Amino acid sequence: MDEARIRTLIAALTELDGSAVIPESQITQIDIHDDWIVVNLTEAEFPRAKLGRVHAHLAAALPGVEIELRSGGRIFRGGDGFGARRHVIAVLGGKGGVGKSTVAVSLSLTLAAMGFRVGILDADLSGPDIPHLLGVHPKKDRARGRWRASAIHPPKERRTAYERWGLEVMSVGFLVPERAALAATERWLVANLLRNLIFDVAWHADILVIDAPPGTGEEIQVMVRELPLSGAVFVTTPQDLAQMDAERTLSHLQQHAVPVIGMVQNMASLTCPHCSSPIDLYAASSRLQEAGVPVLGRIPFDTRLSVTADRGLPLVLGDPRGPIAFEFARIGGGVRRWLAERDLDDSQAA
Ligand code: ADP
Repeated sequence: MDEARIRTLIAALTELDGSAVIPESQITQIDIHDDWIVVNLTEAEFPRAKLGRVHAHLAAALPGVEIELRSGGRIFRGGDGFGARRHVIAVLGGKGGVGKSTVAVSLSLTLAAMGFRVGILDADLSGPDIPHLLGVHPKKDRARGRWRASAIHPPKERRTAYERWGLEVMSVGFLVPERAALAATERWLVANLLRNLIFDVAWHADILVIDAPPGTGEEIQVMVRELPLSGAVFVTTPQDLAQMDAERTLSHLQQHAVPVIGMVQNMASLTCPHCSSPIDLYAASSRLQEAGVPVLGRIPFDTRLSVTADRGLPLVLGDPRGPIAFEFARIGGGVRRWLAERDLDDSQAA
């Protein structure tokens, strides 16, 4: 395999009008390894469909080799970027404390119980709680110190994720000191770090759930622009303010064509201690719903969620037949249906 052959393969791919899908002048460099070929393109923002065509064409011609396309800071390995029929889903919540980590963990465990291979990536630098929620306590940090070198390694040299309850687990907390306060300029490092954690870890997962950093600002904008997200799940609470923040995030997502799978309304109701019927805490109107974001499910306020979290045994595992696990099965079912339709669209487009 040499560079000239790869250039010829790419040049052979044309649009209906005969022009090249990606002109040769847009290829800056090609790195060839035994099992991994990296085609570097110019900074131009290539549409995913173009990258997908070139990727599929090279992958068919070079079986058994991982094909990677890069342009600017973005990396593309097929599908929505993470790989063919592999998905990265971001769990987003406007403010901290809305239950984003709780939902990310419970959804991941639910999807794993449905038979998917699932990884969870804790991206919340201001409070990387996922290891705590899952009871993962790495003794010695094998990864710390390496992350600043943002290079992606060949497949066999990539670090492996931790495993817990059948999930693959990685956290920014494994790499940088906990509760590190980030200066504005360092937010760009976060995107770098996350890209590294997505592409330089030997994930087996078909679905990678990211517990996104809180906020609606630059971190989220950079994340949405730079990472290969298939879709996003919002977590909202009854407070209108949290929804207002979510609206801002929604516009970032729309701007970068990242679809919203739906929202989880957390702490949506209380159970009456006297008669056990639910007391609804949501006002009837919801702006996200009005913006067309479907409700995947509603999680009631349940103190057992925080109690079990502190023991590192998530409630969906501790009480797998309970009402919370049941509601997460509904939410997971919604996500599964959404992903199945997306894969179907992709195979029809191919
Ligand atoms: P975030 O990731 O958005 O900061 P967390 O998932 O860490 O939020 O949740 C914040 C706190 O609220 C945690 O102590 C968590 O256990 C608790 N919590 C989350 N959802 C619920 C719920 N539905 N009922 C009761 N407590 C909850």
